[in-house]
Amino acid sequence: MHKTVDIKLGADILEVNKELAARNKRRFNDANVKVFDFLGAIGSGKTLIIEGLIELLKAKGQRPGVIAGDVSGNDDYLRFMAHDIPVANINTNKDCHLDAHLIDHTLEDFDLSSIDVLFIENVGNLVCPADFPLGTDKRIVIISVTEGDDMVRKHPVIFGLSDILVINKIDLAKVVEVDIKVIEADAKKVAPHTKLLKTDAKHKVGLDELLKEMET
Ligand code: MG
Repeated sequence: MHKTVDIKLGADILEVNKELAARNKRRFNDANVKVFDFLGAIGSGKTLIIEGLIELLKAKGQRPGVIAGDVSGNDDYLRFMAHDIPVANINTNKDCHLDAHLIDHTLEDFDLSSIDVLFIENVGNLVCPADFPLGTDKRIVIISVTEGDDMVRKHPVIFGLSDILVINKIDLAKVVEVDIKVIEADAKKVAPHTKLLKTDAKHKVGLDELLKEMET
């Protein structure tokens, strides 16, 4: 009996999240803002990639903004603030993912009319965020070669639910002895419809291609 109640509760939470995500999406559409959810492990390079994209957009005369999600602290928030753009910080405390309700709440104080593109950096891991869509246009998963060549095999769900998979830190593949082709082959198997791109965000390699893919 106890088990049945738990399962029902879990299903309800996901259902409510779905409804709120749809509401967020309507809000973004009404404000004419394109929104991207970035997922990936801690250290995969999410923040640096978003920073690179921010500068590319600014150079094109577009107005980016960011919602930075972390369990605690404001390190990423401060990095984004240094780009002189609107930024909101969400600390989830003990939760390992953002959800549509947290985004809904954050939007109360976020002026969507002041931006054209919104980046949402999710909490760093590849497990919890999978079940919680936020109402974004595209979901982008970042993995780095330094995490090993088995990341896709270990987290198949999240890749199947994503629009773009980015393999980052490709400049380090040789050093850490990771064969990128193995990751690519796994991704093709698990998520054949997910677009696959490679970046070296530190040296600004592949970011133009990523932005182009996001805009399609
Ligand atoms: Mg980060």
